[in-house]
Amino acid sequence: MKLPLRPELVGEVPYGAPQLHVPVQLNVNENPYGPSAAVIADIAESVAKAAADLNRYPDREFRDLRAELAAFLAQESSVAGLEVENLWAANGSNEVMLHLFQAFGGPGRTALTFTPSYSMYPEYARDTLTALETRPRREDFTIDVTRAAAQITELRPSLVLLTSPNNPTGTALELETIAEILEAAAEVPHGCLVVVDEAYAEFRRTETPSALELLARSPNLVVTRTMSKAFALAGARLGYLAASSQIVDALRLVRLPYHLSAITQAVARTALAHSDELLSAVAKLRKERDATVAWLEARGLKVAASDANFVYFSGFLDRHRVWQGLLDRGVLIRETGPDGWLRVSIGTPAEMRAFRRALVEVMEA
Ligand code: PMP
Repeated sequence: MKLPLRPELVGEVPYGAPQLHVPVQLNVNENPYGPSAAVIADIAESVAKAAADLNRYPDREFRDLRAELAAFLAQESSVAGLEVENLWAANGSNEVMLHLFQAFGGPGRTALTFTPSYSMYPEYARDTLTALETRPRREDFTIDVTRAAAQITELRPSLVLLTSPNNPTGTALELETIAEILEAAAEVPHGCLVVVDEAYAEFRRTETPSALELLARSPNLVVTRTMSKAFALAGARLGYLAASSQIVDALRLVRLPYHLSAITQAVARTALAHSDELLSAVAKLRKERDATVAWLEARGLKVAASDANFVYFSGFLDRHRVWQGLLDRGVLIRETGPDGWLRVSIGTPAEMRAFRRALVEVMEA
């Protein structure tokens, strides 16, 4: 049969970090700590309650969840003034980002991103017929703001994607960098949104600020977050953003009706009610991350500064052999981004011991 596949999809492969079942899985930046028995019980109870009404469509505007997300952000980042109308959510920040592309990208429009960065951005662009322009980050994975501003003036994008902390590098952007990029974007004649993808924000070091601090004075700023990482809720699929109410209203045009199931809403709200407990592992993971950076550096490897729950390191002639050697020893990490670099997610102390032991063996072999 002749399949009328869109030409840009011919030969493409689906998104696929390997989902292998090995003893130590450190490849997709998950939180290694699952919910406690008490949280599981509460989630089960809230799902049972929601199930009683499953013959009905869910709350399309999910205002309760949005209010609770606003309250959470106010507490986590001490930003005041966020209302229900400033929050949006979808099935993972992947879908939140797709909504942004659907509303603000499209044929004849451009999105700009600074690489290496998150591997899904090209897919959102392709699937919404948006042109994607990529420009390289500096050697240390920071962004040269003077050049970025010139690129924005030249390319006139509708969307600029800044990832901070960045995936796969772990590096965060300075607030001044984001502020200057916002200024350049504000000059684009047809308008330009700056989207700061803060999927890993809760792991940032104490001195690293969140772009949320700029929200009150930047009408073209969008900050996206997710419950998949720090919240240890990757399986529930809940991502969200904070932005001006006009931006949020535009997203309501492109979302599918009732995109957020009653079950998802119930689980996310229960998780938010337990945010203290669910986020309690973050401190442990940050400590383990800093220790991992120090250990890799002590082994003579090059390590990117990390504000995330993973560490990006290099110093191998053949990174695939290192990746394979670790996998042979039951440790799965990620081979991604520029040649020579590998990314390891931060796991439990026992998992990190297994990673270190395996890496020593591979490096000595
Ligand atoms: N942004 C970044 C930078 C990510 O690394 C990820 C997940 N790996 C996401 C967004 C999407 O996460 P989710 O859809 O689970 O919220």
